[in-house]
Amino acid sequence: MNDLRSLSWQELIQLMEDLGEKKFRAKQIYEWVHQKLVQSYDEMTNIPKSLKEKLKTRVTFYPIKEVERYVSAIDGTTKFLFELFDGNVIETVLMKYHHGNSVCISSQVGCRMGCRFCASTLDGLTRQLTVSELLNQIYWIQKTTGERVSNVVVMGTGEPFDNFAHILQFIQMLTDEHGLHISQRNITVSTCGLVPKIYELAEKKLAITLAISLHAPNDTMRKELMPIANKYSIDEILKACDAYILATGRRITFEYSLVAGVNDKTEHAKELASRLSGKLCHVNLIPVNPIKERDYERSARESVASFQKVLEKNHINATVRREMGADIQAACGQLRKSYRDRQKGDV
Ligand code: SAH
Repeated sequence: MNDLRSLSWQELIQLMEDLGEKKFRAKQIYEWVHQKLVQSYDEMTNIPKSLKEKLKTRVTFYPIKEVERYVSAIDGTTKFLFELFDGNVIETVLMKYHHGNSVCISSQVGCRMGCRFCASTLDGLTRQLTVSELLNQIYWIQKTTGERVSNVVVMGTGEPFDNFAHILQFIQMLTDEHGLHISQRNITVSTCGLVPKIYELAEKKLAITLAISLHAPNDTMRKELMPIANKYSIDEILKACDAYILATGRRITFEYSLVAGVNDKTEHAKELASRLSGKLCHVNLIPVNPIKERDYERSARESVASFQKVLEKNHINATVRREMGADIQAACGQLRKSYRDRQKGDV
């Protein structure tokens, strides 16, 4: 699919050459799209009409349509529901922290990984998001809220490593000096652990943060929570992480969603600590957000605290993720799911 927002700087220069246009037009157009964040050709006021007409016949410039927006009364977290050109909907979240604004984007329409506690995967994968659609979630939010986005986390609906090529180009364009120029260090990509892709990413030697959704200290338990564990063992994941750390020097984040009575006992914390011992890493504990389709329950506050204590006693750095937007269904995939149920008249 041809989408103006997906074209790299070099591709746009090539396009101008093909059209017999001057090179500086590429710079102007790239700035309209990636710095001034416009949604249509018509907004590009210094581009001649004749060139815009020519471009319109060759390259589509898809806008994104905001269909719903919810602002949390508790912490200002804002959740957006966007409709794409083909009618599919995705969700994106803006979180405001002291250190800056962070946007959590979706990487796919739906997901095929099947994690048991996750709402995003209940209806499977519909399609990949294009580079343009990955970028535009951030562009729309920065433009319409007037809030500068400084951090991006690829932790919304979807498995980013299942949309790998687009994610790499997205990172390249998001960090490009001709675009929003977000620092690689301010980008986090979270994966359920597709091992070959961890090695591929290591080779790129980017300064982004890699987050691995572990959620269990051993393979037996992980298989109960995450079907992908049948394909890759925790040992294989940890070996790939070592290669990643060696190649990039970057600390890895391990995400661990705590489910009451399942993976939150002291023995699990000890087992996890022994497996991560000596690694350049950090554990992010997330009390699970219960979804109505499953009967998993969130761990009690005391269990979360004691789990964290055990990790720290064993020299594993651990934090508990602060819950944000609790009043606006801000957890992974919940808003999209409820919107689709409402459209179907299920609720
Ligand atoms: N597919 C990627 C990124 C999307 S999910 C991944 O697996 O990492 C982002 C994080 O939220 C993952 O750690 C995921 O396991 C977790 N998550 C999903 N649903 C959740 C829920 N209901 N409660 C707590 N964490 C959840």
